[in-house]
Formats: sequence, C-alpha cells, structure tokens
Amino acid sequence: MYAKGATRAFHSNARRFSTATSFQAPSGLKINSERLWNTLHETSEWGAAHKYGENPTDTGMARLTLNDDDARVRKWFAAEVQKLGCSLSIDQMGNMFARQPGRLNSTAPMIAMGSHLDTQPRGGRYDGILGIMAALEVLRTMNESGFWTNFDVGVVNWTNEEGARFPKSMCASGVWAGAIPIRKAWDLRDIHNPNVTLRSELERHGFLGEIACSSDPITGYPLGAHFELHIEQGPILLENNRAIGVVRGAQGYRWLTMTVHGKDAHTGTTPFTARQDPLLASSRMIAASHDIAKKHNALASTGIIKVPSNASTNTVASQVTFTLDIRHPHDSVVHAVQEECLKAFDTIASQDGKGVSFDWTLDTDSPAVKFDDDCVASIQAAADQLVGRAKSMLMTSGAGHDTVYTSQHCPSAMIFVPCLDGVSHHPTEFCSQQDCALGTQALLEAVVHYDQFRAKKDH
Ligand SMILES: [Zn+2]
Repeated sequence: MYAKGATRAFHSNARRFSTATSFQAPSGLKINSERLWNTLHETSEWGAAHKYGENPTDTGMARLTLNDDDARVRKWFAAEVQKLGCSLSIDQMGNMFARQPGRLNSTAPMIAMGSHLDTQPRGGRYDGILGIMAALEVLRTMNESGFWTNFDVGVVNWTNEEGARFPKSMCASGVWAGAIPIRKAWDLRDIHNPNVTLRSELERHGFLGEIACSSDPITGYPLGAHFELHIEQGPILLENNRAIGVVRGAQGYRWLTMTVHGKDAHTGTTPFTARQDPLLASSRMIAASHDIAKKHNALASTGIIKVPSNASTNTVASQVTFTLDIRHPHDSVVHAVQEECLKAFDTIASQDGKGVSFDWTLDTDSPAVKFDDDCVASIQAAADQLVGRAKSMLMTSGAGHDTVYTSQHCPSAMIFVPCLDGVSHHPTEFCSQQDCALGTQALLEAVVHYDQFRAKKDH
C-alpha cells in the first residue's frame, strides 16, 4: 500500500522518462498516448480489485484466467480487432490471434505482438495487459494512418500466462510450442474448485477454438515473428536510468528440492556433539548457496522450507526439506553454482555433531533462452531512434514470458519498460503513461523495422 506521498514521489521520478512527447518516430507514425492509457484503464474495470488510493485507477487486478471478467475483456478485445478489419482466430487453448493484412497479400505467417490479459489474484494493471493494449494501439495507429506493413501483422492474447488459477505458467504458449501436452493443460483444475477445469471454462465462455494449439503450418497457427512489450518487473532500468530495455534472452534456471535427514532428539538433554540436526544444516546450506551464487553473479533462493508438522520447540527436527532456485543467463554458470552448492552441502552435512545426510531431486531445468538476433536488432534500432543508445540497455529477462516459448518456433524478442520500484504481481504495480507510450512506440517501430527487414530478405 503506497501512501500518497510515495505515489507523488514516483511521478516526479517517472518524469525522468518523459521522452514520449519529444521522440522522433522513424516510421512517421505516432501512437496515441491518451487513447492507449484510457483503453488500458477502461478495460481494467473488468477485474479491478484491491483499491489502494484515491484515484479511480488506484486499484490492482484480480482477472484470473477465464473467470467472468477475463471472458468480458476477451470479448471486448475480439470486437475491437474486428472493428479494425482484422480476422480473428481462436485455437484449442483459447489463444486469440488477430490478424491485419499486409500489402503483399503474402500467406506467410504474421508478425505478432503478443502478451496476456490474465493477472495474478493480487496483480496489477500492467503485467501482460500493457503488452496487449500496446499491440492494439499499434494496429489502431496503423489503421487510422492508412499504413500498410508488407506482411500481415497482428496481436496474440495468450491464455493463462500467469498460471495462478490453473497452476501452470506460460501455459498456452507452452502448448503452442509443443512443450506442454494439451490434455495436461486442459485438465488443469481451478486451485479453489477441483470440479472446474481449464477446458470446461474455455467451453463455458465459448473460447474453445477449433484450430490446433500449435505452430504447425497446416493444423495450427504459425507465427512469422513475436514481439512482446512488458514491464520489467525488476529495478534494473530504474537503477540505471534507462527508458527502454532491449531484451535479448531469458536466464536459465534450475529448481532443486533438498531433503536433509537427521534424528529427533531432546533439545535439553542432547549435547551439540551428539546431535544430527537437519534444520541447522539446512540453514547453513541455504546461507552457503547464497554466498556461492553471489560469487558467480548468479541468483540462488530458497522459497520453501518444511519441517515435519509434529515438530516441537524442545525437539531437534528429524527431517527438513527445502527448495533451491538457481538462475543465471548462462547455463554453464547455473551448473557451476549447482555443483559448488552440492559440494558445500557435503561439507556442511558432516560438520555439526554427528552430521546429517541429504538427498536431492532436480524438479525443473529450464535452459537459458537466447532471442533472435534480427528481432533484437529491430528493437535496438527502435530504441536508438527513440531515446538514443544511452537511454536504452541490453538485458536478460529474469522472469519467464510467453516469448520464451514462441522463441522456440519463430524469431522473437522483448521490450521492457520500467515500473515503479520494480514491483509487479502486486496491486500497486505501476508504469507511467509516458513509459507505456514510449514502450508502445518502440513496439511499433520494431515491428515496422522487422517487417522491412523481412521484405528485403525475401526478395
Ligand atoms: Zn506477464
């Protein structure tokens, strides 16, 4: 919850990025900042929740995948793109593909701008939503200016990116990419109501399409490229005083579960030398993982720690389970951190008293992702022209996004814009009107740039 003063402090902070009024648009097109801002906030009425301030827009969002509000905004989106003359296709995961024809009348897959309209239960107004509203604003701007791209361009609203209601994040882009089986995705159950599945909600709202959720050119909906504008969800742009992040990839991560075995013993009568204390060992292991990651400029985090539910104050715990999440832009560093951690854990396990034993499982291995050089170059060109090299920065995404999956099947890259204090997945998540507009203009320029590059390449 932000006090009024804090909000005001940010607005002056945000003014550092008020480049939106002064930038030169190399395409000759200029997005409508007011229209973008109003559309974003008007449509956020569907799912608005968690009021935190005086202004009507001072709320977060609770627009969970395929709830009634998500269905409302989806129907609105369908109507808006059709008003622009786009064709609309919906696949078997409810992914929505809006397509605006290019002047070449090419049957080649469209250049897509994608993101998601669903939110976390205590989410904000920008994560995902900005990407879709920006994409729509790009189409509106092209449309009203009579501007034709060479190839078809369009928007994709990916279903269930958040994985909050149906617990699998980047769910439908994962199915599209062939990484998640559709039956598994369809069978995901509402975390509060096991009688409701993702598929039953698709059916209830009329979003179970007929096209295969796939990049297959015959049965599915292939894409020629995928660009995603997103709030950074971290503090790096703000800390470096940059307006646009040119995202060249996503870091790799591994999730491990460690189980440390000891022996329960009376805390008053068992001297340290006679103990096998798994909680003490776990705490040393967690601290060691932090130091090792730090040394490698990587991240290591423990989000869950479990002791048996019958543990007591005056008993040494018998067993402890904890998670370890290791991240870095290079897989080799992720591996090195893991190896060093395991070695350190071996040492720690023998240290106190009679020592403990441990075993571990690898639950998730998500290799680092490198986005497409040409897409990244298009975004960099857009950023250079709009704000100059000194105000943009190459970066690696710390979080997963639909673009991570699309990049497996089509040239893809992302644009980041700063958000207040780097906060997201929180009602007070905020991105200034200027930054939303600048990011949207960058999205437009990147798409136009890439479209021209693709036309040259093909001819
Ligand atoms: Zn998102």
